[in-house]
Amino acid sequence: MSSLLITNGRLVTLDEENRFVDNGSIYIDGRRIVAVGDIAPGSYVADRSIDAGGRLVMPGLINAHHHLYSTFARGFTPPGPPARSFEENLKKLWWKLDAALDSDDVYFSALLALIEAARAGCTTIIDHHASPSCCDGSLDRVEQAFRDVGLSGCLCYEVSDRNAEAQGIEENERYIRKCRKSDDDQLTAMFGLHALMTLGTETLERCAEIGQALDVGFHVHAAEDLVDVQTTTRRCGRSIIDRFADFGIPGPKTIFVHGTHLEPREMDLLHSTDSMLVSNPESNMNNGLRVSPALDFLRHGVTVGIGTDGMSSHLISQARALYLHQRTDHRDPTLAFAEACEILLHNNRTICNRIFVEPRGALAAGQLADVVIHDYVPFTPLDAGTLYGHLLFGLSFSRVQTTIARGRVIVDDGQLPHLDEAAVRAGCAERAAAIWARIH
Ligand SMILES: [Zn+2]
Repeated sequence: MSSLLITNGRLVTLDEENRFVDNGSIYIDGRRIVAVGDIAPGSYVADRSIDAGGRLVMPGLINAHHHLYSTFARGFTPPGPPARSFEENLKKLWWKLDAALDSDDVYFSALLALIEAARAGCTTIIDHHASPSCCDGSLDRVEQAFRDVGLSGCLCYEVSDRNAEAQGIEENERYIRKCRKSDDDQLTAMFGLHALMTLGTETLERCAEIGQALDVGFHVHAAEDLVDVQTTTRRCGRSIIDRFADFGIPGPKTIFVHGTHLEPREMDLLHSTDSMLVSNPESNMNNGLRVSPALDFLRHGVTVGIGTDGMSSHLISQARALYLHQRTDHRDPTLAFAEACEILLHNNRTICNRIFVEPRGALAAGQLADVVIHDYVPFTPLDAGTLYGHLLFGLSFSRVQTTIARGRVIVDDGQLPHLDEAAVRAGCAERAAAIWARIH
């Protein structure tokens, strides 16, 4: 492993003291950060030095919910009349797209999305995968894309009864066991479930039994639309979180996604079980749905994170969407600015550090060396009182100069030198055309 010295950075450490360091340095040895701050010249001799040129340097961002397989949907319009409901949208677009993917498509769709993520300053992604025509071994293809780009990932397969009963259970179990045997923490696993609306009792029982025996958390959509709530009530007379609780699924390692139509009592249940909730505001708005009430969850003491849900690989835009939506929805210009940033910078880190072994999300000694140099030199004061303004109004529109993931420079002056990106993009264009032709 090599060593790296970053000098002359405006450091936003997000460490326990929330330090801001002007003209600061970071020394990285192997995968870990060794020293951060005012490092005297000559203290460390590194294999490579990078002069940040006064640019803003932060920990790598974390995406708490993504669907990398959605990459080739960009610009695609399903044939026939437009979907008029959430369920129709699943049937006409997403369930046709995922069924059209072959094993190489799985790899390339993940690869391209991960390149975009790296270029947007994201270094860890919690993904939720589906490819029913090539389920077995599909998580290995997603893993390969993570390794080729160099990011960290938490993978799972979306179990659902929608195609074949209980499809995906073995893939989750196999991949969780594989990660357990591996001694590197770059990839880890959860047990993936689609949503109660496509999961029958027998499938839930089997998933719960296996997931609990393996002591992993579940990653599942909950109450994204009313149809999930109504279907669950009609079939079993239970509310969404009560139904999950019947199988012991809530808990400190479990991620519920959206939670839009949960009752206050169910929010309390998430809090009392220390479960996590991930909001995806752009995705909800794109689907013409109510947006997950992130502030309500916070008031109930729930750990709320934020994800992109396949909309993009750009995290800061999600935090912008969250606060802007809350303000207009409540007609209140005082709402959600700090909360949106804290969800992104602090809560996503909390979620990640429950799932991965190696601590990350701060510029501090001992942390995983996930470090991003943004091509952004603040022209107004930068401190704890102004950071969120720089984040939402400056960093959201600036490019990333350098992304260091696990101690390795993977984006170097905006380029990914270890990949033949032109060839990847050409291959992806061919694959996308073939996939679109298969969907009808
Ligand atoms: Zn999702």
